[in-house]
Amino acid sequence: MQYVSTRAASKADTQDFSAILLGGLAPDGGLYLPLTYPQVSDAELSAWRALSYADLAYEILRKFATDIPKAELKALTSKTYTAAVYRNVRDGERAAEITPVRVLEQDGDKSLLLQALSNGPTLAFKDMAMQLLGNLFEHALAKDGAHLNIFGATSGDTGSAAEYAMRGKQGIRVFMLSPHKKMSAFQTAQMFSLQDENIYNIAIKGVFDDCQDMVKAVSNDLPFKRTQKIGTVNSINWARVVAQVVYYFRGYLAATTANSQKVSFTVPSGNFGNICAGHIARMMGLPIDKLVAATNENDVLDEFFRTGVYRVRRSSETYHTSSPSMDISKASNFERFIYDLVGQDAARVRALFHQVETAGGFDLSGKPGSDGDEWTRVAQFGFQSGRSTHADRVATIRDVQDDYDIAIDPHTADGVFVARKFAQPGVPMIVLETALAAKFNETILEALGQDAARPAGFEDLESLPQKFTLMTTDVAQMKAYIAAHTGL
Ligand SMILES: *Cc1c(COP(=O)(O)O)cnc(C)c1O
Repeated sequence: MQYVSTRAASKADTQDFSAILLGGLAPDGGLYLPLTYPQVSDAELSAWRALSYADLAYEILRKFATDIPKAELKALTSKTYTAAVYRNVRDGERAAEITPVRVLEQDGDKSLLLQALSNGPTLAFKDMAMQLLGNLFEHALAKDGAHLNIFGATSGDTGSAAEYAMRGKQGIRVFMLSPHKKMSAFQTAQMFSLQDENIYNIAIKGVFDDCQDMVKAVSNDLPFKRTQKIGTVNSINWARVVAQVVYYFRGYLAATTANSQKVSFTVPSGNFGNICAGHIARMMGLPIDKLVAATNENDVLDEFFRTGVYRVRRSSETYHTSSPSMDISKASNFERFIYDLVGQDAARVRALFHQVETAGGFDLSGKPGSDGDEWTRVAQFGFQSGRSTHADRVATIRDVQDDYDIAIDPHTADGVFVARKFAQPGVPMIVLETALAAKFNETILEALGQDAARPAGFEDLESLPQKFTLMTTDVAQMKAYIAAHTGL
């Protein structure tokens, strides 16, 4: 399997899976995608019904990671997807299923299902891919005794998922910037309580954008990046996307008994990484009817799917909401879908995303003066969308608790709220549960008047000793700190 950039000048310019594993953007500024999507046959899909999650992950990944020896890949998926790693599921006895699916609502032949993706160590769905990434990285580096220093910025979920995936891994260190005193007490404690020697938490006197600017400034110093072996694990990483494809297959197989049946998914969305994996599963032939993108008040994606206009937001138009992991100004994985939407025409993608940088967006509505009419093809890809507000989330958390005795988190509530509008008779609608309620207790308390239940082991999280370094936004000082701690 060969990979090509969404902005490639030539489709002969390809890379294999291992070559793009440790990188981020392609050198031309595009994102990597396979040259063609591998297809899943009816017989394969039937055989996969009996597989464990780990074995299913192996079957899907081996279609993409063709340059990793099969036995090694199988060892990596078996080590990653265990009940011990994904143990925080509400009904503890279902941990072996890794992403258990439960029926939430049944109304005649309309059904709403919830697929739990947040049973991993940091209680959010990012663990699904990041845990595999940690093992893939360690495996890749071990081959030649190499080192990797992951440098990133986080406002919460990504940073903690990366740290829990990389802690204690040979050859890997993590330097994670976060805005000082801007994360929730739970998120801060989750990251800062890690005492592992290879984890460096750096609290920056500033806001999240300051942290991100520092990551950019350091990454733009190419000689420094090279000598210090700096890498990233942000949401555009291809291996993260492909690891997420697995749970769409698992959800489909759990909700159906025959391959003639279809299901739909509603996905609480921000950077479009999660739902992009759903799109890929559908392109591989998984019988998905609709893929519904649910956004909060930061509705860049909802606006595109409703109107064909993609308009990135300025910081002053980007809101801090009660589903903070979806507070984005632009959707970093969206370019992957646009590539398919415009018929894999890389020159067109290059022009459109150049326009995003110079003019803040593009318009594919087909109206006079627009940049194209491909939006009319969106339905062929199954996409629909909706948005919710804080009041919608709070009301949804409340009535899911009242009706089904489950506390859902605010991101999942965005999903349930939107899914209810799009559920069709005869097609199970699966809402992806992207975090556990305990992680966003402030909103649970507001909605339910009581604290969210905490999974075992998290009871005293905030009282554990915390390890972090406080720094200013001085880039030179940051580089000196990194250099001093990588030992390179
Ligand atoms: C990251 C995140 C999202 C958004 O996922 P994308 O892949 O960025 O679309 C939604 N919910 C939670 C809880 C998250 O952590």
